Amino acid sequence: MPAAKKKPAARKAPAKKVAAKKVAAKKPAAKKTAVKKVASKKPARKAIDWTTKTALVTGANRGIGLEVARQLGQAGCRVILAARDAALGEEAAQPLRAEGLDVRVEKLDVSDEQSVKDCAARLRQAGIAVDILVNNAGIYDRTPVLTLPTETFMNVFRTNTLGALWCSQAFIPGMIERQWGRVVMVSSGLGTFSRGMLGHPCYAISKAALNALTVKLAQAAPDAVRPGWVKTRLAGDLGKDSVETGAGRVAYLALLPDDGPTGGYFRGQRSSRW
Ligand code: NAP
Repeated sequence: MPAAKKKPAARKAPAKKVAAKKVAAKKPAAKKTAVKKVASKKPARKAIDWTTKTALVTGANRGIGLEVARQLGQAGCRVILAARDAALGEEAAQPLRAEGLDVRVEKLDVSDEQSVKDCAARLRQAGIAVDILVNNAGIYDRTPVLTLPTETFMNVFRTNTLGALWCSQAFIPGMIERQWGRVVMVSSGLGTFSRGMLGHPCYAISKAALNALTVKLAQAAPDAVRPGWVKTRLAGDLGKDSVETGAGRVAYLALLPDDGPTGGYFRGQRSSRW
């Protein structure tokens, strides 16, 4: 007799399963409809013909800059591989040209305003307009803040911050005139307030200022990107990601469609806090 009393409880279990199935069956159908409705409202995105664009990458003779130059070239852009030592630039350009990429080398020391102006003048004379500017050149310094000589600070600041300002001043006006342009600042998580400004003083301050510069240049449409810790001479043993991966994050922003984000700070492909 006690066994017979237990039977009704056992029959209730299948009823729960049916209820669960009903919910599961309803949800995906509703989601799919919503996605379709939103998608149908978006205007068709105009494809960009990258073969009509010229990209200038600073500090492109090695590291992330060289790989960004390669990836932009592979996307179809004509590439200006800018290097402070033209001979090193030519050396770096050889394998890219061997891949069939359109690469021109330009001498450009971003820490020297006159060098930036001279480079811009040479390109103007040659009838070359820069459509995409990647402010990549950068240096690192480990001097502690309390013993930081002004000259050391200024050297890092001139390269990492003022260099990007001078290049922006040299090339953004032409972009505005032609009503098309891309500017990517290669920043760093080590100079981000939201992540505690963890870099050594000169570097962190120069990158924080670069981020501030990005905000101030936002009307001219630059995006800032942090490539992650990338295996290059600058990162030393700390590098984790491959140069290809880090450069891919930079190239992604340089090749954004016309309705892409602007004036933001990106970790990888995601928008992040300054
Ligand atoms: P890298 O291998 O040391 O390369 C730095 C490049 O900048 C070199 O081509 C160097 O040229 C050039 N450069 C330095 N001073 C210059 C100047 N005054 N004018 C023109 N070019 C100059 O470093 P990287 O890792 O590729 O770094 C590239 C950028 O990514 C930097 O802005 C860096 O702050 C940023 N970043 C890197 C990492 C990382 O994990 N590697 C992480 C965050 C951000 P020379 O060969 O003549 O020295």
